[in-house]
Amino acid sequence: MRTIASLKGIEGARVLLRSDFNVPIKDGVISDDGRIRASLPTINHLRSLGAKVIIVAHLGRPKGERNLELSLAPVAQRLSELLDVAVPLLPTGYGPETELHISQMNNGDVMLVENIRFEARETSKNDPDRIELASQLAQNADFFVSDGFGAVHRKHASVYDVAKLLPSVAGFLVEAEVEVLKKLTLNPARPYGVVLGGAKVSDKLGVIDNLLSKVDLLAIGGGMVFTFLAANGLSVGKSLLESDQIERVKEFISRAEKLGVKLLLPTDIVVASEFSAQALPRTVKSTEIADEDLGLDIGPESALSFANSIQDCHTLFWNGPMGVFEFHQFSHGTHSIAKALTEVDGLAVVGGGDSAAAVRRLGFSDDEFGYISTGGGASLEYLEGKELPGLSVLSQ
Ligand code: AMP
Repeated sequence: MRTIASLKGIEGARVLLRSDFNVPIKDGVISDDGRIRASLPTINHLRSLGAKVIIVAHLGRPKGERNLELSLAPVAQRLSELLDVAVPLLPTGYGPETELHISQMNNGDVMLVENIRFEARETSKNDPDRIELASQLAQNADFFVSDGFGAVHRKHASVYDVAKLLPSVAGFLVEAEVEVLKKLTLNPARPYGVVLGGAKVSDKLGVIDNLLSKVDLLAIGGGMVFTFLAANGLSVGKSLLESDQIERVKEFISRAEKLGVKLLLPTDIVVASEFSAQALPRTVKSTEIADEDLGLDIGPESALSFANSIQDCHTLFWNGPMGVFEFHQFSHGTHSIAKALTEVDGLAVVGGGDSAAAVRRLGFSDDEFGYISTGGGASLEYLEGKELPGLSVLSQ
């Protein structure tokens, strides 16, 4: 993979930078700016070399429509504060205003293009549509730097196609993320544990499938655990359940046993009768979930046993909260796992935007962990063994 160190002749050049600014925003306020901060080393480096930095990014899924709720305006403002320089936000379509602005940029200037997914061509399945948009982006730039790790698993115009049209390299963030993922896949220090949670088991089937033969420990929590409990013949009440995945999960359970992988499932569950911030938590055994119960967190006994097993590992990857951490009474399982990760003697990786936001929200700081990845979907697909278009294009 070509990296930023190989870039020559940057002074005065227009550098198109793909960043990942897909941050949580509510009522115009950014609740976790981790991804913006993670993009700063590359931006600062390009500026220090005298580049004119044109940043392209997306926010949410506007599906090709101009949806002002998904405007990058709050990001432009936050970026401007962090860089201590003006960051104008220009329209997505490369009309005369944007082109004139680019032609008048000074060395070291930074600008942000409005949410690129306002353009349907960005995510189009039709190659010529994406190439048309990518060409527009490329016509107004001399180099492409790919640093939006959270989007590199997407074959999108500003991630994949544009990289073929300009001299292109990976930025510091993409380089660092790939370095960590390599450590997780090539010869990880053992014992190697993976902890998975989050809402849907179907999102994680591929990664479980690929990791089963590589890990020593697999611990499962979150909403997805109920499909595992159901596969073991337990009742899960009103908890999240993907019945159509039970057979696949049964196969994983028996494969884990054959391979000698320690598969940890919770022995107790924090349940409630409703999904709400006011719901009263009760702890029950996993074997005694009643029909009206809704499982919203792993219980304290499970949290302790998960934490003990995690601390024995020398390599650990965690993706997905153990419970509905957004409600305080169901956040203890996630908190215990995060705490255990901070105590791992080895490499402990928090994978994904949601998990990263969860640990910060629970009061942990980034430097307590070995590495916090900015890309959930991208890191999972890498661990699944899939080829990520936004990465492979940087090696072609
Ligand atoms: P994901 O995006 O798949 O990582 O899922 C994250 C979401 O899963 C969070 O918003 C959690 O609130 C949610 N979640 C975790 N555990 C449960 C559960 N037991 N029931 C319902 N949702 C859950």
